[in-house]
Amino acid sequence: MSNTEGSGQEKGYAALVQSLREHHKTIDPQNISWRKEQLRAMQKMLEENEARFLEALRKDLRTNPTEGGLLQLGLISSEITHALKHIDRWAKPRKVSTPLHLKPSSARIVHEPLGTALIMGAWNYPLLLTLSPLVGCIAAGNAAVIKPSMMAPATSALLAETLPRYLDKKAFQVVEGDVPEATALLKERFDTIFYTGSAPVGRIVMAAAAKHLTPVTLELGGQSPCIVDRSANLKVAALRIVFAKFANAGQTCVAPNHIFVHKDVADEFTAILKKTITDFYGQNPQASPDYGRIVNAHHHQRLVALMKGQTIACGGGSDSRDLYIAPTLLTKVDLASPVMQEEIFGPLLPIITIDDLSEAFNHISANSRPLAAYVFTGSKKVIEQAEKINAGAVCINNAMVHLGVHDLPFGGVGGSGFGQYHGKAGFETFSHAKPIFRSGSLEAGAHYPPYDNRFKKLIRRCFGLK
Ligand code: NAD
Repeated sequence: MSNTEGSGQEKGYAALVQSLREHHKTIDPQNISWRKEQLRAMQKMLEENEARFLEALRKDLRTNPTEGGLLQLGLISSEITHALKHIDRWAKPRKVSTPLHLKPSSARIVHEPLGTALIMGAWNYPLLLTLSPLVGCIAAGNAAVIKPSMMAPATSALLAETLPRYLDKKAFQVVEGDVPEATALLKERFDTIFYTGSAPVGRIVMAAAAKHLTPVTLELGGQSPCIVDRSANLKVAALRIVFAKFANAGQTCVAPNHIFVHKDVADEFTAILKKTITDFYGQNPQASPDYGRIVNAHHHQRLVALMKGQTIACGGGSDSRDLYIAPTLLTKVDLASPVMQEEIFGPLLPIITIDDLSEAFNHISANSRPLAAYVFTGSKKVIEQAEKINAGAVCINNAMVHLGVHDLPFGGVGGSGFGQYHGKAGFETFSHAKPIFRSGSLEAGAHYPPYDNRFKKLIRRCFGLK
């Protein structure tokens, strides 16, 4: 069911959120079977509507069905399978030891659902960015309002139609719409907000959440850098970088934004990148069924403008009527040029030649902390250095694929966001780890006033003071 009905500018979602909250109260917070039923229902929804979801993705972003199957439906489905396998262990209360002076006693940590969540997804992977957080949200036992992006309208409409047919619709609702609907939703009190998108809207979300003291997770973007060292296997690096950069026409939050290449291999590597692009998408990528399109005219114009004045080593073509921009390599890029000032979020790949790897490491540490950093090298020493990069994630000799490892938490740091999800991290983000302490009824009575020497001695011993 789509929840876009409302009364004009006063469109409000108070009743909707209240009804989810009331229903959620009727579900035992420790009821794991209900969570598993919902996860299985989500998997069934994906299986039974696979062709329709792939068609919606094709309409929204000209996503090739194989790519949509791999990077969206497949990832979500395997994440559900992973959650179903581990949920009992994640949700199992964990005993912890208690200090001597509080004995006899016991203590444990019980994970409880936070309540009713708001999940706001971005348009670039419209299915993945709404349903992947929903996996952690359900695994932790919450109800949720899911707000897909209107910039991917076909996927949004299909989610609104199918999700309430499969999941408990008293606990999960899709609200479609644009800024007015998002703004109205944000006025309501949720127990947690999970937002994926740009930093400016992230600030709006945080400000709205602050009014209710609602915790937020912000999954933002940034300029994920890539370094190619002269010791790297250049052919393998090119395959992995070209895939990560040009899948979804570069509109991927963890796509390599730009590459620093060591001068000794810069020309050779640029030539291999060019050949790899042709191998993937042919001489005319516009005719390739495997190559996507830019989401709308605004982003198309923005990307065309970023190419102005740049040295184009490959690609550079565009067709505004088809929202097409060729996979493009830019060389001799000045670090002060506009293309290096913002997240590109499109199929333009600046290549910056460096004399020494320290130039790249220094540039990365001097800029906002990225969502991911990629280093291709054959050197152990460089790997050690790479692993120290301050980024949401570090991926050595590959790009983007780390997000498919369900046991790795996914999320940003600094400017690329905060809070994490995927696998257990998603379960924890949507849970409250509640401490429960039980005391025995025996009472030593040693720590109550009036404080005497016996008390002082006991306290010093218990806290290890000399
Ligand atoms: P978007 O325009 O789809 O917006 C994201 C969400 O915010 C949508 O649900 C939308 O309805 C809502 N929204 C938009 N404007 C709003 C407003 N004024 N007030 C309230 N809500 C509003 O997506 P976008 O912002 O263009 O996303 C692109 C950015 O997201 C890029 O920077 C990208 O790197 C980042 N991103 C990050 C991740 C991640 O996992 N960290 C994933 C995908 C995209």
